[in-house]
Amino acid sequence: MKVDDIKNVAVIGAGTMGNGIAQVFAMAGYRVSLVDIDQKFLDRALATIGKSLDRMIKKEKITEADKSTVLERIKTSTDVKSISGAQLVIEAATENLDTKLKLFEQIEGIASTDTILASNTSSLPITKLAAVTKRPDKVVGMHFMNPAPMMKLVELIRGIATSDETVAVIKELCGKLGKTPVEANDCPGFIGNRILLPMINEAIYAHMEGVGEIEAIDEVMKLGMGHPMGPFVLADFIGLDVCLAILEVMHQGLGDPKYRPCPLLRKMVQAGYLGRKSGRGFYDYSK
Ligand code: NAD
Repeated sequence: MKVDDIKNVAVIGAGTMGNGIAQVFAMAGYRVSLVDIDQKFLDRALATIGKSLDRMIKKEKITEADKSTVLERIKTSTDVKSISGAQLVIEAATENLDTKLKLFEQIEGIASTDTILASNTSSLPITKLAAVTKRPDKVVGMHFMNPAPMMKLVELIRGIATSDETVAVIKELCGKLGKTPVEANDCPGFIGNRILLPMINEAIYAHMEGVGEIEAIDEVMKLGMGHPMGPFVLADFIGLDVCLAILEVMHQGLGDPKYRPCPLLRKMVQAGYLGRKSGRGFYDYSK
């Protein structure tokens, strides 16, 4: 497979990340099949992409005609079989190992044998996902950052069996998307989340222990450390369920108690306070 052989891309999961990834590919000229389990998630994804493109029109980065072209390139479906014509499949479903293993088994049976299978997982083992397929050499982690259309980085994760050829194709592809790939090894949390999530977790512990209010902690990290946003704003943006899932994977996978998810984070997720996407997290987004 050469990078120019990739014309059709499938994205599975149309949530926070899936819709952004679909937009990135459609803007770079690829035809995209976007798949989710329910049409309502797909409709919401298209609306989110539409709004993102509108913001770009306002900033005069693209025209109305570009918006129509980009949207025309994205086809949605609730049937995973719609990925069959893709040369690259990117799985961006919920951060849950069983969900992803089942999906990789399904994808293996549908996608052509040359198709590269990528996962946007934030923390789960690429090697394990690859092992349920008959093409572990063509399985790779392609970890886009949130929001995918804005952020330049793609962490590129090699499973134990990922071939140099697959890595080379994905690296070249990242260039075509205007992204910068950085290689990381297959270890829970990879590079970015290994460092980011303990900081977010510590911020939540600090708040729970009464060290400071949410706003105060965010302000200290912004004004004092030069972070573009504080850890609570960022956690709400990522999704508190996603933060918890990543910490659980790191805690289990690395076996070090320093990754133990803060009980307050767990309680927030139990309450359904998932951050921006649910209208409430550490901050209130209902208005
Ligand atoms: P999300 O909850 O916003 O969206 C997940 C979507 O997957 C939902 O729409 C859900 O209906 C769909 N889904 C679940 N099971 C499915 C299946 N079997 N088939 C098709 N669709 C299915 O989650 P998200 O934040 O977009 O995260 C998706 C992936 O991206 C996760 O692996 C996560 O770790 C990773 N990630 C998240 C962020 C972030 O900041 N949120 C950043 C980088 C990577």
